Amino acid sequence: MNPRILIVEDNPLNGELLRDWLEVEGYTVFDAASLTAAKAAVERDRPDAVLLDIQLGTEDGLSLVSWMRGRRSLGRIPVIAVTAQAMLPELQRIRESGCSGIVSKPIDFKLLVKQLQLWVPGAKMLQKNS
Ligand code: MN
Repeated sequence: MNPRILIVEDNPLNGELLRDWLEVEGYTVFDAASLTAAKAAVERDRPDAVLLDIQLGTEDGLSLVSWMRGRRSLGRIPVIAVTAQAMLPELQRIRESGCSGIVSKPIDFKLLVKQLQLWVPGAKMLQKNS
């Protein structure tokens, strides 16, 4: 079964670009554009990993991570943060939030794939076959 990724991104164009990239690589993609939608999607779809835009409009993407980490059944799902912020305190805040990895915007797709291979079961196999 293909690895299943939830993309949480409030910008529709960015979300579509990510979806296209990942689907070409063989991932199955779900998406959500807000915290509320993301929580529902995590519970419903149980993705293998979450790709999380930290700046979700006025919402803080990291609240999703603390919410997930507090739930036994969702706490182990890897979350890869996506951020345009390069300031150290913000990177520190992301690291301490319980995210598994960080990818900076604009996204370097090769780096993103590497992160997914690190954290998503089945992703390595997928890359070999593609
Ligand atoms: Mn955003």
